[in-house]
Amino acid sequence: MEHKKITGYKKEYEIKDHPKVKGLQIIEGKNNFPISWLNQQGYCEYQLYLEHIKGIEAGPTKAMTQGSRKHKELEDIFNKDATPAKFEDAVEESKTEAVMSREVFVTSPEYGIRGYIDEIWMKPDEIVIIDDKPGRTPYESTMNQVRAYCLAYKDMTGDERKIKAALRERGTDNLFWIEVFTPDIEKQIRFTIDRMLGLFDGTKPFKATKNPRKCRSCRFKDQCENAQ
Ligand code: SF4
Repeated sequence: MEHKKITGYKKEYEIKDHPKVKGLQIIEGKNNFPISWLNQQGYCEYQLYLEHIKGIEAGPTKAMTQGSRKHKELEDIFNKDATPAKFEDAVEESKTEAVMSREVFVTSPEYGIRGYIDEIWMKPDEIVIIDDKPGRTPYESTMNQVRAYCLAYKDMTGDERKIKAALRERGTDNLFWIEVFTPDIEKQIRFTIDRMLGLFDGTKPFKATKNPRKCRSCRFKDQCENAQ
């Protein structure tokens, strides 16, 4: 597969920071959140409230720091032999010749989501969107994250090729979960994304987990009134 480093996009959007929610943007007049927040939503929605609405800062966990370092190493290796390309050109070229890229930014003003795809394989007959994770367990939250990348990619490109979502054990070739992005899955992830948008526009409450084990390993436990 030809390696392409995505260096730009043909389409540009009007982007503003949300005045009250840290990290939330307003893109083309609609709230837009980073897809990685779905991970926190699956763990405990109250974390999102504490971090992005109350503005509490908790340092990264050891796993988060290690993950970022590994990401950077893999990206540097990839970039050594990758040729630069605009996103739209790489998508078009991949319809005749397979292209692979890393750290590809996708955004959907329509659905209110944005984020970086760890790795994407664009082949003439299918698209595979991969998110690297520590371990080999496909949690609902991590599956939702990669499903949201599929939705943003599909919305950005209108690509009619089959799209697959995959989770890979970080630092290995082991794709431990893979799923075709079907219309039913798309409906399901759009429902979850709407819930997230409802949390930030105040129409839905942030639910705190009732699982004490989650609270024990939570970065916010010392500042959380709902800690179990
Ligand atoms: S301490 Fe528990 S309830 Fe509070 S944010 Fe963390 S996981 Fe959620």
